[in-house]
Amino acid sequence: MERMYEGKAKIVYRTEDPERVLMRFKDDATAFNGQKKGAIADKGRVNAGISAAVFRYLEGEGIVTHYLAQPAPDELTVRHLTMLPLEVVVRNRAAGSFSRRLGIEEGRAFSAPVVEFYLKDDALGDPLLNRHHIRALGLAEEGEADRLEEQALRINELLRRYFAARDLELVDFKLEFGRAAGELILGDEITPDTCRLWQVGSGERMDKDRFRRDLGGVEEAYQEVFRRVVPQGEKRED
Ligand code: UDP
Repeated sequence: MERMYEGKAKIVYRTEDPERVLMRFKDDATAFNGQKKGAIADKGRVNAGISAAVFRYLEGEGIVTHYLAQPAPDELTVRHLTMLPLEVVVRNRAAGSFSRRLGIEEGRAFSAPVVEFYLKDDALGDPLLNRHHIRALGLAEEGEADRLEEQALRINELLRRYFAARDLELVDFKLEFGRAAGELILGDEITPDTCRLWQVGSGERMDKDRFRRDLGGVEEAYQEVFRRVVPQGEKRED
């Protein structure tokens, strides 16, 4: 299969159908814009399984996603999207770059979720953008920033509920969107690489912060999220 693109955590391959691509999830892990590199054993399988389950849930709730099928434990078949060069982050509590940049202690809850846009550009370190920047740079069409924010907030409500039912608090997460046939579609992945998930009660980190901050127990946390999201006997492959 022809490799279309290789990122830090996934490889994207063409398929015989130009409207479909195959994403293979890797065990490789990076943090701090690629400055820290490593691997998380079995992450490819775990993250593909979690993404598939989450995308199927969101589809059931009326969100249009790129997910089509899971042909192998570490692979998803998805719709071929033209990606917007943006990351959309939603935050329910202060953490990570928000806490660092604004001097707010980690864990402070917000009265309403915070939505942020970042430019996807490794060389620039993914700078924060506001709607004026998005318009000035022509990164999205008129009105698309509003639609992205609406979608992101709706997805936040759905995912908070989904993870809370699994004893995990959704602290923040990152989404990427693309277009196909003129439609705005949720793409990329939704995994412990792209979400902060805290154990309800203890606040224990169950996500990539274990890798970023050398907290130990990285593999165990990813496996535990997998077990809660993909119940035994339901490890289906399409
Ligand atoms: N995030 C991501 N990819 C990025 C940047 C952030 O998936 O390139 C996710 C991250 O896992 C967290 C949320 O977006 O769930 C907010 O990340 P933050 O801005 O705090 O950056 P960090 O400190 O994680 O680098």
